[in-house]
Amino acid sequence: MLFDAGCCRCEGTAGPVCVACSNTFGDVGVVEPTQLSCGGASLAACRARFVLDQPMLELMRAYKYRGERRLGAWFASQMTSLFPLAVDHLAWVPTTPERLRARGYDQSEVLARSLGHKTGVPVARVLTRDSGDHRQTERGVVDRAGGPRLNVRDRVRGTVVIVDDVMTTGASLHVAAEQCRRAGASRVIGLVAAATPRRAGPGSSRVRSWK
Ligand SMILES: [Zn+2]
Repeated sequence: MLFDAGCCRCEGTAGPVCVACSNTFGDVGVVEPTQLSCGGASLAACRARFVLDQPMLELMRAYKYRGERRLGAWFASQMTSLFPLAVDHLAWVPTTPERLRARGYDQSEVLARSLGHKTGVPVARVLTRDSGDHRQTERGVVDRAGGPRLNVRDRVRGTVVIVDDVMTTGASLHVAAEQCRRAGASRVIGLVAAATPRRAGPGSSRVRSWK
């Protein structure tokens, strides 16, 4: 892209996110793992910075699909207020090798590395993802409960923060947390940039906030 100074959502002058756009985003904060539709059993705690509503979805699309990599540092700076104390390692939920090649960056890795830079917590490549494992965005929400196929690469210890861009059912984070525990973590905390609003109850289409 020729100019990278403007707002990634409205193309206003003050980027990467202008004040007007940032004022439209809703906060989430602490999410109890038991609130996740996947049950979140492998997570000791979970935190999400923004509600994934329409304005946030537009910004997230710019980050994931329009090459606005600079949003990674912006999201990370917004997420530091939720960063837990006494963390030994940072890890991320990897995208597929195909998407990494097409996009040029793994958006969740950029978040994790930027958070590592801001917090001083070492970042580890704990997980890898199989080629062709595109189920998370191609399948419907119900099918996503299965989560991605993730493999353990590096060993870790102690408390690990697992980072992802978006959380819907929590299934990806849950699977990633399980694998981090297999990699040696004693405790795993999920931290995501944005989470879809919670449904009010089974079968209900009414959307509730996380609080
Ligand atoms: Zn804007």
